[in-house]
Amino acid sequence: MSATHIENVERKNLVILGSTGSIGRQALEVVEAHRERFSVVGLSAHSRGDVLMEQVRLFKPKVVGISDREVADSLRETLKDLGVELFTGEDCLCELSSLEEADLVLNAVVGSVGLPATLEALRRGKTLALANKESLVAGGELVMKALEKGGKLLPVDSEHSAIFQCLQGEEVTGVERIILTASGGPFLGKTREELKEVTVEQALAHPTWKMGRKITVDSATLMNKGLEVIEAHFLFGVEYQKIKVLAHPQSVVHSMVEFKDGSIKAQLSLPDMRIPIAYALSYPERWGPPFTTTDLERIGELTFGKVDLETFKCLNLAYQAGFMGGTATAALNAANEVAVEAFLQGRLSFLGIGDTVERVLDQHHPEKAEDLNTIIEVEKEVKEKTRLLIEDRGGG
Ligand code: MG
Repeated sequence: MSATHIENVERKNLVILGSTGSIGRQALEVVEAHRERFSVVGLSAHSRGDVLMEQVRLFKPKVVGISDREVADSLRETLKDLGVELFTGEDCLCELSSLEEADLVLNAVVGSVGLPATLEALRRGKTLALANKESLVAGGELVMKALEKGGKLLPVDSEHSAIFQCLQGEEVTGVERIILTASGGPFLGKTREELKEVTVEQALAHPTWKMGRKITVDSATLMNKGLEVIEAHFLFGVEYQKIKVLAHPQSVVHSMVEFKDGSIKAQLSLPDMRIPIAYALSYPERWGPPFTTTDLERIGELTFGKVDLETFKCLNLAYQAGFMGGTATAALNAANEVAVEAFLQGRLSFLGIGDTVERVLDQHHPEKAEDLNTIIEVEKEVKEKTRLLIEDRGGG
């Protein structure tokens, strides 16, 4: 492509929610490599003020959101001097995603706290690059309804990006099955007995992907794959029975679609989140140069195997919540958020995560997930209940 051509490229006005997290930082690497194609209009962070300020100086957004009020107060003057508008508190995510001038919003926050901003962006007809899988797990029906307002939803999760890529030029009616691959995390092949004494450090040592703490623990329990099953169900409108999970420890095949004629399409690359992030930001185009090239000769072998649902009960629980429907998936996610936090703080054992979520889900009576308030109320109740359960168990 010639330089003059690039000068004529229309810039995308980009907002990144969660810009200081792992996905947010990698997204800014993509933006940095394609500076002529983007104007960064807004960035948000929860509490990492120092990282955010570095990004502000580099990308010069008009607006930043900081949800932690203390951190926001400490940066107020500096931001004012730089001419950057500041939004604070939890609402700042919604304020940013509804910015008039934003046309592309990347939602990369962690947890279902990202749901209102997802809805807000779609209702305003914006293109939403979604890395916040909890938006779909907690409020899938609402998100799909909000999409009817004319916005566009592009998956950033590597598996869903793979499926989305395999579905280009295809009709959903031709899909027989979606095959989600799972690296299996650090504990693939282990028994429950062997996982009794797992430490936080061991759970955080993921063999193939470098990610934030919450999602790394979710990958070790396979709850992450469970959340992705639910995410795929809503994103692609495919029934749970038709979504299969396959262990694939190399993390090179990011997922596959099996069609009615017996063909299977797959998307492959080395595990590098910048690839699915860049695809969501460039869609429907593909931009080079690549961040990572995949040398299949060097990789040599790709293997696939069954996932042990007894050891990794969280994956089973996600299917169970999916079949229950309504608010059950929001409840599953809320219980898991509390349980993972307790594990990271040393208040709950590794296997206790799945056991706790199981007890919460067994006691949950799903309601219709028709509006945001219902979901928020259910999440609040479930989180409280989960905290009490964990206190009672005394970390078991
Ligand atoms: Mg994923």
